[in-house]
Amino acid sequence: TRILAIESSCDETSAAVIEDGKTILSNVVASQIKSHQRFGGVVPELASRHHVEQITYIIEEAMAQAAVSYKDVDAVAVTQGPGLVGALLIGVSAAKAIAYAHQLPLIKVNHIAGHIYAGELTGDMKFPLIALVVSGGHTELIYMEKSNSYELIGETRDDAAGESYDKIGRVIGVPYPGGKRIDEMAQLGSDVYDFPRAMIKEDNYDFSFSGLKSAFINKVHNAEQKGEKLDDIDLAASFQAAAVDVLVDKTLRAVEEYKVDQLIVAGGVAANSGLRKRLESIISERYPNLDLIIPPLSLCGDNAAMIGAAAQILYDQGEFSDYSFNARPGLELYE
Ligand code: ATP
Ligand code: MG
Ligand code: FE
Repeated sequence: TRILAIESSCDETSAAVIEDGKTILSNVVASQIKSHQRFGGVVPELASRHHVEQITYIIEEAMAQAAVSYKDVDAVAVTQGPGLVGALLIGVSAAKAIAYAHQLPLIKVNHIAGHIYAGELTGDMKFPLIALVVSGGHTELIYMEKSNSYELIGETRDDAAGESYDKIGRVIGVPYPGGKRIDEMAQLGSDVYDFPRAMIKEDNYDFSFSGLKSAFINKVHNAEQKGEKLDDIDLAASFQAAAVDVLVDKTLRAVEEYKVDQLIVAGGVAANSGLRKRLESIISERYPNLDLIIPPLSLCGDNAAMIGAAAQILYDQGEFSDYSFNARPGLELYE
C-alpha cells in the first residue's frame, strides 16, 4: 500500500509517500521558521499564506522523490487537526482535490496520532505501550492498549514542554523557536541553578511547566536588576535538568504502573538530547526489558511521513472519509 500524506497544521508544509506504513519513499518538509522568527512566534495569517504558496510544489516534489505517479498511490491522507485552522485548511483542501481528481480514498489523521506513529517508521510498535508526547502544544502521557486506541493518563496543566523552552529562550535572547538552541547550550553548561520540579512527587501523571518558566524568568530579571550577569549556558543546563527530571520521572512511573513493554517518545521535544540520553541510560540500567522507541530527529518535528504511518492503520481498518469533513483546530485524540 502506498499513501500520499500531507501535513500543514502549523508552520511546516510537508508531503510524503509512505509504503505499508513503514517505508519512507519521500518526506519533503518546508519550514517557515525564518518568516515567523522576527515576530517571536508563529503568525497564523502568514502561515496560511506560506502553505498556499508551497503546497502544490511540495506535493509534486514528494511524488517526484518517491518516483511514483498517482496510479501507484492507494490513498491520500491529511492532518485534520489539532493546529491552526487556516493552516490545516490548506492541507485538507489540497488532499480533497487530489483525492477527487485521481479518485483515491481519503483518510483524515490526528496530528498527535501522527507524532506517535512516527514510532512505526523507527521500530515496530508493540502494544500495550506508553507514549510520551512532548511538543510545542502538547505534553501528554498516553496509554495505548492496542493500535489506534488512546487513553490520556496525564497531561500538562499549563504550558507545554516545547512552549516553555521557547518562552525561556526568548528571555535570554534565543530566537524562536528556542528549544533546539537551549538544548545545545544545555549540553555545554552545568546544572548549578536550583529550579523547581513541579508536581514530581504528586501521585498522578500530570505536568506543570509554568512554575519552572516563571522561576527562570524571575531569576534572570532579579539578576539584571542587581546588575549581575548569570551564565546563560548554565541557566539553559539548569532549566533542561529540571524539565527532563519531571518528564522522565512521571513517564517511568507510568511505564511501571501500566506494565507496558514499550515506550515511545514523540513530538518536537523528543529531539531533546538531555531527554533522549537520560531515558536511554535509565532504561538500559533499570528497565532492561523495556523497548524504547525515540524517532530520529527528522521524524520528531512536524512532517508528513508520520501522518502517512498513522494513516496506514486507518486504511487497514477501512476508515475512509468523504469530502464533507472540515479542519478541526481543537481535534482531540480521545473522543
Ligand atoms: P503540536 O505537535 O503539539 O501541535 P507543534 O507541531 O508546533 O505542536 P512540534 O513541531 O511537534 O510542535 O515541536 C516543536 C517544538 O519542539 C518547539 O517548541 C521546539 O522548540 C521544540 N524543540 C525542537 N527541538 C528541541 C530540542 N532539541 N529540545 C527541546 N525542544 C525542542
Ligand atoms: Mg513547527
Ligand atoms: Fe507537532
